[in-house]
Amino acid sequence: MTALNPIPTTLIPGDGIGPEVVKATVAVLEALGAPFKWETQLAGMAAFNACGDPMPQPLLESIRKNGLALKGPLSTPIGEGFRSANVRLRETFGLYANVRPALTIVPGRFDKIDIVLIRENLEGFYVAHEHYLPVGDDPRAVALSSGANTRVGINRIARYAFEYAVKHGRKKITIVHKANVLKVLTGLFLEEARNVAREYEGRVAVDDRIVDACAMQLVLNPWQFDMLLCSNLFGDILSDELAGLVGGLGLAPGANIGKDVAIFEAVHGTAPDIAGKGIANPISLLLASGLMLDHVGHPELATRLRTAIDLTLNQDNVKTTDLGGKATTTTFTEALVKRLN
Ligand code: ATP
Repeated sequence: MTALNPIPTTLIPGDGIGPEVVKATVAVLEALGAPFKWETQLAGMAAFNACGDPMPQPLLESIRKNGLALKGPLSTPIGEGFRSANVRLRETFGLYANVRPALTIVPGRFDKIDIVLIRENLEGFYVAHEHYLPVGDDPRAVALSSGANTRVGINRIARYAFEYAVKHGRKKITIVHKANVLKVLTGLFLEEARNVAREYEGRVAVDDRIVDACAMQLVLNPWQFDMLLCSNLFGDILSDELAGLVGGLGLAPGANIGKDVAIFEAVHGTAPDIAGKGIANPISLLLASGLMLDHVGHPELATRLRTAIDLTLNQDNVKTTDLGGKATTTTFTEALVKRLN
């Protein structure tokens, strides 16, 4: 077999369970023969502790140069402290599209789920124009937040979703909104997404749902959905629900896509409750690295990886504790590597 061209890629171990699942993923990708040439960089709390900056310059330079990164989860202090490094990375590199596929690998409560959620990644309430108003002697008596959706931003994400549907042979996109209450912020989202949908008439079907009804329908009858197109906050919430439908956060990958840079990650966070215990499920990040292999033009390696994960779980019956098994991160990784050899 001829050696594949090396692909320089920024590797961010992250915080909490990040370093554990990143280490597992790197070992599996090596066994797979994936040609990533890693450049390890710190971000988030690990970087803040090391150099006082959650987004150090060498990290940004490495991502800018490579246009590609695999990222462990980054922790953000709740309430006070620095702004989420996850959000800032998306903003810095214009990663406007967040792709979160949910596919059943372990048949459970819901079998045969296959839904792709496309989340707008830069706008809505995540622009975080937030402040307090003082009343009397309470400096934080009123909390204010305003969101922003732009026609340009909505058009861009809707076009991305419809192009994705065409490319991947998906049949229908459901636009998620709350235009009955947030008539301006999410009304524009619905209006402009429908404008884009018209250009794809006859190729991709479209409908829409109010977010609360969508959340319920996802539990009652998830099979009616093919793709979901969501604004930022709704996409964040519904993608965790989708993860729940297919067995939990241990099985949910995500891709953050911009014009020049793509960052791949697990949907889950740093899971501080299990960090350092060696029991984290690395599959979310492994599946994210599968999306990364698709992205760099190695779908054959991505398919091999997904098949090996399927066989390890369903034939070898090796599963981490979040999936009801007894395997540790290490024993699961070893079993998966054996499947690839
Ligand atoms: P953060 O503050 O970084 O978002 P969190 O604990 O609030 O962290 P998640 O990290 O997304 O949120 O996880 C929620 C729960 O799901 C965790 O408490 C953990 O028990 C479980 N979990 C998440 N990811 C995994 C994983 N990869 N393997 C096993 N369990 C996981």
